[in-house]
Amino acid sequence: MIAGHWEVVVVGGRIAGASTAWALAPYAERILVLDASRPTAFWPQQSTWDRAGNLAWAELGLLETVLACGAPRTYGDTQRIGDDVVERVYPREDEHSYRMSLPREVLDPALLAAAQSRGNVTVCRPARVRAITIDGGRVRGATVRHDAIDSRLTCDLLVLADGRLSRNAQRVGASAYRVVESPWFALLAYYENLPLPTDRSYFSLQDRSVLISTPCGDMRWCVALDLHQSLIDETGRHPGRAYERMVRDDPHLRPAVAAGRRSTPIGGAGRLRMLRRPMSGPGWCLVGDAGYHLDPVTAQGTRAALVTARILRDRVADAGRAAGADLTGLTGERDAALDADWAYTERIVRG
Ligand SMILES: Cc1cc2nc3c(=O)[nH]c(=O)nc-3n(C[C@H](O)[C@H](O)[C@H](O)COP(=O)(O)OP(=O)(O)OC[C@H]3O[C@@H](n4cnc5c(N)ncnc54)[C@H](O)[C@@H]3O)c2cc1C
Repeated sequence: MIAGHWEVVVVGGRIAGASTAWALAPYAERILVLDASRPTAFWPQQSTWDRAGNLAWAELGLLETVLACGAPRTYGDTQRIGDDVVERVYPREDEHSYRMSLPREVLDPALLAAAQSRGNVTVCRPARVRAITIDGGRVRGATVRHDAIDSRLTCDLLVLADGRLSRNAQRVGASAYRVVESPWFALLAYYENLPLPTDRSYFSLQDRSVLISTPCGDMRWCVALDLHQSLIDETGRHPGRAYERMVRDDPHLRPAVAAGRRSTPIGGAGRLRMLRRPMSGPGWCLVGDAGYHLDPVTAQGTRAALVTARILRDRVADAGRAAGADLTGLTGERDAALDADWAYTERIVRG
């Protein structure tokens, strides 16, 4: 039964939503997480992060959960720029100085399971929020479709973690106030049993493309390609075909993928827009891509999602409870915390 009153309702149960439910659990009696997708869905998205991401997981108390997913840590990479090859080792600052990557179908369920282990977090999926109740200028609840039935529920705080295309952000009036159109198309697929090192990644930077392979599990790799839209337009090739050709033509990856096997379809997204929406308003808050979407080309989306969850958690912790917490001023706090990531990503996106 999801109808009735919940102190916190989180819409979206992936990186941002599951982490937020975990983080807010000590400050609410009952939290409901709703996600429109089926648990078995394949998400052509990656989650790779560096030392700053490790610190963000640790700040939320989720680093152990993430490490238990079993992805190898990478301490350096091989970079091919044109025909030159350079071996890099990441600077060793502390025990968090490594990069890590996890397939979403491994990471997202682990985060949801951690949230549910709190005991006061209920997950309902597939369940889609179809309308939001606003009364007296304040969000009071939502209408949710689950099992072909619409239920109305009320809440003290509605957290929108429903991704960059969030329709609910529009429903609460959170319009984007900063937008950057990206010319990059992001593609990826997962592979198994590649004869590649498991403690380092590979980057190939060529004319208007970046090909990256990253170990992300037991003999599993993610092979991602960022492709400039102008290259797609010039060749007239479907981005998926361009991906296959570039992996096949790469001197480092060609023999590896011939020996291993691709275990997922090639998927991805193009014509993306970096965007910032306000983070909070009366009775609502936006976390993750819903409020702050960075182009994947710099792999900063995971950290941004965690930082927004942490900012909300800290504000709620100050008040002692989610209900009645003062959420004013969160937009400025978030933008200041993520400004360097935005500037770096925008510089790359604008070329
Ligand atoms: C190809 C690609 C590669 C990427 N690579 C990286 C990378 O290497 N490193 C990195 O840090 N980031 C990467 N990113 C970005 C990263 O995937 C996102 O930043 C991250 O997924 C954001 O998580 P989120 O929880 O905010 O949103 P999402 O992962 O988009 O989750 C939103 C959830 O909300 C649910 N939902 C939507 N509408 C409703 C509704 N009405 N009711 C209920 N539920 C709803 C959806 O079903 C979904 O499960 C990549 C993205 C892409 C596309």
